[in-house]
Amino acid sequence: MTNYKKSPNPEVKCVVNTCTHWIPGNICGAGNIDILNEEVGKMSTSVEQTMCKTFEERRGLANFIGSADNVNWVGFAEELVGMGRQLNPTVTCIVDTCKYYHKGDLCNIDTIEITGKNAKECQATDCATFEFNGEQSKNEKIQQSREKGEEFK
Ligand code: SF4
Ligand code: SF4
Repeated sequence: MTNYKKSPNPEVKCVVNTCTHWIPGNICGAGNIDILNEEVGKMSTSVEQTMCKTFEERRGLANFIGSADNVNWVGFAEELVGMGRQLNPTVTCIVDTCKYYHKGDLCNIDTIEITGKNAKECQATDCATFEFNGEQSKNEKIQQSREKGEEFK
């Protein structure tokens, strides 16, 4: 279950309208999103090398149910009853070559933008807010083991 207490945590704006988590208004309805590097073991130096791994192509109801364990139900309920809190996922990001990376796989900026309209796979999505910090990754080994199939938490 997602914990909604990550801090810092940015507001997520997403234009990937082909994703099962996407909601009109450029909102992401996922409970948590994972931002990774597109190529296993290769830390990003540009926006295009990042991706939203939580992307799942929308394919009707079965797909939605398939992703039901990663839905911000509390946010949905509050949005429905008008409590005014915008739906927003927690963000887990291991791209430590980004200026906004914060220790603990967090992201320390007010808002991030996920791009990749009409994407059919997560590699076609990007964190457009990424800015290269000009440094070597300290996270590469952990990231590689995660990307080789270990659960990403
Ligand atoms: S691509 Fe990522 S940020 Fe966008 S709606 Fe899907 S899970 Fe959310
Ligand atoms: S802005 Fe940087 S730290 Fe934040 S999610 Fe995007 S790549 Fe990760």
